Amino acid sequence: MSKQLLLNAHLITMDAERREFKDGAVLIVDDRIAGIGKSADLLVAAAPDVERIDLRGRIVIPGLINTHVHTSQQLGRGIADDVNLLVWLRERIWPYESNLTEEDSYISSLLCGIEQIRSGVTCFGEAGGQHVSGMARAVTELGLRANLSRSTMDTGIGLPEKWQETTDQALEAEIALYEQYHHTASDRVRVWFNLRTVFNNSDALITRTKELADKYQTGIQMHVAEIREEVEFAREDRGATTVTHLNRLGALGANLLAVHTVWLTDEEIQMFADHDVKVSHNPAAAMRVLGFAHVPEMLDAGICVSIGTDGAPCNNRMTLIDDMWLTTLIHKGRLLNPTTMPAETVLSMATNHAARAMLWEDQIGSLEVGKKADLVVVNPNSANMLPLHDTAANLINAMQAYNVESVMVDGKWLMREHKLLTVNEEEVFAEAKRHATTIAERAGIKLPDRFNVQ
Ligand SMILES: [Zn+2]
Repeated sequence: MSKQLLLNAHLITMDAERREFKDGAVLIVDDRIAGIGKSADLLVAAAPDVERIDLRGRIVIPGLINTHVHTSQQLGRGIADDVNLLVWLRERIWPYESNLTEEDSYISSLLCGIEQIRSGVTCFGEAGGQHVSGMARAVTELGLRANLSRSTMDTGIGLPEKWQETTDQALEAEIALYEQYHHTASDRVRVWFNLRTVFNNSDALITRTKELADKYQTGIQMHVAEIREEVEFAREDRGATTVTHLNRLGALGANLLAVHTVWLTDEEIQMFADHDVKVSHNPAAAMRVLGFAHVPEMLDAGICVSIGTDGAPCNNRMTLIDDMWLTTLIHKGRLLNPTTMPAETVLSMATNHAARAMLWEDQIGSLEVGKKADLVVVNPNSANMLPLHDTAANLINAMQAYNVESVMVDGKWLMREHKLLTVNEEEVFAEAKRHATTIAERAGIKLPDRFNVQ
């Protein structure tokens, strides 16, 4: 049995009572939190065999949860900057993704996972990648927690040939992955169903996916109302805008995580609230091409809104901390209201809201007795984060990935004092460079020079 007592930390628990301890302690027994409170109180009760870890001057928060990340796209960072959406999709991303091997996906997920850990993320929701087996291998080795899913499409113009499959084939593949990987790696790996987008998903696929997710008691990730052209396509092709159409199909429910959700009417926001649909807000990707989701309005309607980074070719920074900062900023600017999206709301979106969005709130999302020991140690003693007049606000407005000092999942340190403990970072970097080059060659992606290259 492993027993660890984290002492003398500034604890922000994100529990239901929003407790914060300025000199707090967390007792961890094996993979779970066994005690939480003031350092003096826990120290008195501590058994002699407990490992004591002094975190004086540090802030401890629940592990951050990135609810939408394309691990398969990590090696595609930089292949589609400053291009329009059609070029982005058809000339860069589809050729890139459709040429990924299982090994490429594994290396891509390792690199992405390292960036997640280094930015305080302990759990993520895969957006829908090409090789769940490669992702599962990477997540298992990294020690992270994740809901994985396979990119699923059964219709659509211009899809690469190797992606063309029938509705039955798509669903059979997803069920097989669910049966092979769900609840593996000590339940750190779970498998979800996936709907890529209404452009590429038939009505039959949407309704059957919803039935299967209900049957298997798991979730569905879907890009929803992402761009204006998408809701116009849905209206012309299916007879109603995306969310209204999903509602008519009976596809809205508490196990649907709708990503982006930029182009919703007020009535559609209410549909989400009525059906407890969860949302993943991806502000960096949104600012690049999609538009501004009405996040404060969704929160006011009672919708559970979380935050995601999206993929490396459309955000470039897979650092949730940066998207938390953007989340607090962009809605202030959009609404000309400096009081909207305060720091505590944004931190909630990245922790307890995100845990609900991941259908994992009974285990993670806050520091509470009985929950999994998934947490982050922040060292704020740097030029970008001092002084600490308002600690919680500094976590959102000033913290950078560098301030993440240590990360724990399931009671195990994945990173300790900036050193990654589960995988060899240098080896992953070398493999990532090698694989990225060969994928681009295989996919025939050649970028134009930006300068007068000599
Ligand atoms: Zn996405």
